[in-house]
Amino acid sequence: MSERVLRFEQALEVVMEHAREASVMRTVETVALLDSVGRVLAEPVRADRDQPPFDRSTRDGYAVRAQDAGGTLRLAGSVRAGERWEKNLEVGEAVEIMTGAPVPAGANAVVMVEHTALENGTVRVSEGRDVRVGQNIVRRGAEVLADVVLLRVGTVIGAAEIAVAASCGCAELPVFGKPAVAIVATGDELVELDAPVGDVQIRNSNSYALAAMVRAEGGEAVRLAVARDTREDVRTRIAEGSKADLLVLSGGVSMGKYDLVEEVLAERGAEFFFTGALIQPGKPVVFGRLPRDGGWRYFFGLPGNPVSTQVTFGLFVAPMLRALAGREEIAPRFVEARLADDVKGGTKVTRFLPAELAGDWEEVTVRVVGWQGSGDVGANARGNSYVVLPAEIEMFRAGETVRVFPR
Ligand code: AMP
Ligand code: MG
Repeated sequence: MSERVLRFEQALEVVMEHAREASVMRTVETVALLDSVGRVLAEPVRADRDQPPFDRSTRDGYAVRAQDAGGTLRLAGSVRAGERWEKNLEVGEAVEIMTGAPVPAGANAVVMVEHTALENGTVRVSEGRDVRVGQNIVRRGAEVLADVVLLRVGTVIGAAEIAVAASCGCAELPVFGKPAVAIVATGDELVELDAPVGDVQIRNSNSYALAAMVRAEGGEAVRLAVARDTREDVRTRIAEGSKADLLVLSGGVSMGKYDLVEEVLAERGAEFFFTGALIQPGKPVVFGRLPRDGGWRYFFGLPGNPVSTQVTFGLFVAPMLRALAGREEIAPRFVEARLADDVKGGTKVTRFLPAELAGDWEEVTVRVVGWQGSGDVGANARGNSYVVLPAEIEMFRAGETVRVFPR
């Protein structure tokens, strides 16, 4: 098998190209509004009426005709939210109005109560306060007209989207079914959580970390039994895992004698898009697809070191999974922050070091967490992000702006 090791940007672009094209048969289910949180919208939500549905006052005050506001105005009535003032506002009149109430016909401005004086049934606008047409009024339909799409297919539902759906009267929403992601950890040294752990054995933490990341990205995690480092076992698990919508393996992709994953995938007719990326941690990461039912199923072989597993999932698997879940936004998001301390560079690879991103009011800083390398799950958990250090730069100085990949 020939090696194909890409720079980070290239590897990401390859994944993104495939993710954009990845089309799966998606099922749709209808769920109660609050059960849609975190799910992906399968049909657009349209405004069921103009928003606002009437000319709405944004202040407590007086509805007036702007052209009359220089003089004394006769207080003709009052209107509160949820009511309508049925008459027409006539020349020289003012109507007391509350925030959220419909502006009476004939009025074209609302003056804040703080800018007026009321005396013996007459209202006066305070000296020096201009009254403009349209002031403190949101016109009917100014936010959105009836039938216009407010939430697009592929939107992930959160509180803001729930507010929109509720404002349109949706008690239920149609969402996409979750893609099934098979998780296969490989390694002779691995033991499951319910088994006693020998001195030189390692608990299978990756299957759980991966399952958690799969859930967070809108997938259904299917944790398969650990594959031992034998051809036969790896074959069995890969056969089982390739029934899912996406197959994610951990371990067994390095250059060791017992690293059999790529070999077994190749046996099954896999097409490999890359077999490594110039990143650290995570260099041995593999991306490709297996033939299935006349089509293809994508797979990722992630390095087994737990921090490498998590970093490569976040960078490469997550975009593909978001695409399979039907999400519209799939690319990994990076932010910028100031480096808190000097960090030595000069490597040939792009590094993703566990780091703590702290944003106070003044500025956002990022500090690398001390760690013992890509097996150090504790250091990884002490951070909340990865600082991205490009290859070939000798030194990164405190105060420099760097990219950060939040996790
Ligand atoms: P590998 O990628 O198979 O060479 O494994 C690299 C390192 O990651 C070794 O120290 C493994 O023991 C460790 N490792 C592999 N798989 C897991 C796993 N599922 N959970 C925790 N550690 C793992
Ligand atoms: Mg291994």
